Amino acid sequence: MAKIFCVANQKGGVGKTTTTVNLAAGLAFVGQRVLMVDLDPQGNATMGSGIDKRQLKHTVYDVLLEEATITQSRVKTQWGEEAARRDMATFDVLGANRDLAGAEVELVELDRRENRLRDALLLVQKDYDFVLIDCPPSLSMLTLNGLCAAHGVVVPMQCEYFALEGLTDLVNTIKQVHANLNKELKIIGLLRVMFDPRITLQVQVSDQLKDHFADKVFNAVIPRNVRLAEAPSYGLPGVVFDPSAKGSQAYIDFAREMVSRVQTL
Ligand code: ATP
Ligand code: MG
Repeated sequence: MAKIFCVANQKGGVGKTTTTVNLAAGLAFVGQRVLMVDLDPQGNATMGSGIDKRQLKHTVYDVLLEEATITQSRVKTQWGEEAARRDMATFDVLGANRDLAGAEVELVELDRRENRLRDALLLVQKDYDFVLIDCPPSLSMLTLNGLCAAHGVVVPMQCEYFALEGLTDLVNTIKQVHANLNKELKIIGLLRVMFDPRITLQVQVSDQLKDHFADKVFNAVIPRNVRLAEAPSYGLPGVVFDPSAKGSQAYIDFAREMVSRVQTL
């Protein structure tokens, strides 16, 4: 049965999508069966997996509104010829595009509105080892669907001055979901991303994080790495685009860490 994880942080541009796509590829790379769910109307995780969001027959929107099942809607990553020659591991994608923006409003009217994704995932959970959900930068009905479906949350964060303050809202939301909607939900860990060890402040914030959250801070640290930023323009995760880049190696290390962490859940 798949373990289901949300990659969430209500702050924008902190590396959620980069983390989801590269963790998915990293897990596939180490032999895990992965479904990636794009819960963001921006559709960046979909595009970053080589799938044209405008060409999708069904998306997560249809699944949330029960107009299609995940089995009907999922597609395989497409790496293109050059990457395919490198025989890179692939994963399944439940994609998103701008249609999803409407779901926010349409779901309000429906029953079991927070549980739509959870219900849909039950039918495919046996097909995967990991389901990773890329959440939008908000604590909206979409993110709530992700949190209700998940066993845990992975929180990517930059080691900046306000990093800890920004966590409070997310931690409170997770507590509320845990108390009222999903007893299984917990924070799996905080992932330090876009890290630059030459910047003293980042090292200080990183130390504070470890003091405060102890083993909730993942050992893997994702460095700021231009190859990770370039990869989406080729429709590839960094891990597939340039497996030897420092950032890609860090995500593969992180994938291995996740594999060993789920055994302790
Ligand atoms: P949003 O809140 O809009 O969904 P996000 O949290 O998903 O954003 P990303 O889209 O993953 O954030 O990243 C924001 C930007 O930072 C992107 O341009 C991405 O390529 C870049 N980026 C992410 N991680 C790294 C990294 N480790 N090194 C360099 N650039 C990075
Ligand atoms: Mg994103």
